[in-house]
Amino acid sequence: MNDPNRTPSTASRRLPEDLKRCIAFHGHLCPGLVYGFLVAKEAARFFGLRRSRDEEVVVISENDTCAVDALQVLLGTTIGKGNLILKDYGKNVFTVFDRSDKRALRFSRKGHYRYQGERQEEFEGLEASVAAGRATVKQRMRQRLLKALDLLSKPFDAVFDTKEVKCPEPPYAPLAPSAACAQCGEMTMAAKMIEIDDDMRLCIPCAQGKAMSD
Ligand SMILES: [Zn+2]
Ligand SMILES: [Zn+2]
Repeated sequence: MNDPNRTPSTASRRLPEDLKRCIAFHGHLCPGLVYGFLVAKEAARFFGLRRSRDEEVVVISENDTCAVDALQVLLGTTIGKGNLILKDYGKNVFTVFDRSDKRALRFSRKGHYRYQGERQEEFEGLEASVAAGRATVKQRMRQRLLKALDLLSKPFDAVFDTKEVKCPEPPYAPLAPSAACAQCGEMTMAAKMIEIDDDMRLCIPCAQGKAMSD
C-alpha cells in the first residue's frame, strides 16, 4: 500500500536542510516550492549571495505561487522589507537583482513538465485521476510529492531557462509617514492616500466607498 502522507523515507532523509527550512515556513513540500527553491539556489550560486538582511537582493516574481515562499526563506527577499515585488501576471518567471553589482538574472520555467522518476507508472495513474477530476485529496498530495521529488533530481537547466537581463535598479522601499484618513480616521501611508480636495485626504477604501463599517 502506498501511504500518500509518507514521503518515500530515503528521499525525505535526503532532502537538503535548506529545503527543510522552506517546508517549515511554507507548510508542505510541493512542486511550486521546489521551483522557488531551485531558483533561489541558482541565483545564490551565480551571484555568491547570502541571505539578504536588508535589500541587497530584490526579487521580481511574476506570479504569487508557492514558489515565492522559498525565495523569501532562502534569499531574504520578503514582502515586509519590500525587496520582493509581486507582479500578478501568472507567469512562471522570476528576476533576481543583485544590488552589489547591478546585475539581474531572469529565470523562466521551461514548458512541458515530464515525470522522469522511478515511479513512472504510479505517477501516470495519479495524473490521469487528477486530470479526470476523480483524484482524492490523498492522491493529489501524493502526485504533488512525487513531482516535487522528481523536480529536485533534475538538472537546473532542464527546469529553467536563465538569461542575464538589463533591469533598471528597483527603488528602495520608501519610508513613508502616515496620516489619519479624513473619513475613517485610520492611520494610512500618506503616499497611498487620495486627495479629494485641498484639505481632504482619504484612504483608498474610503475614496472608493469600500470602507468597512461596524
Ligand atoms: Zn505549496
Ligand atoms: Zn479611510
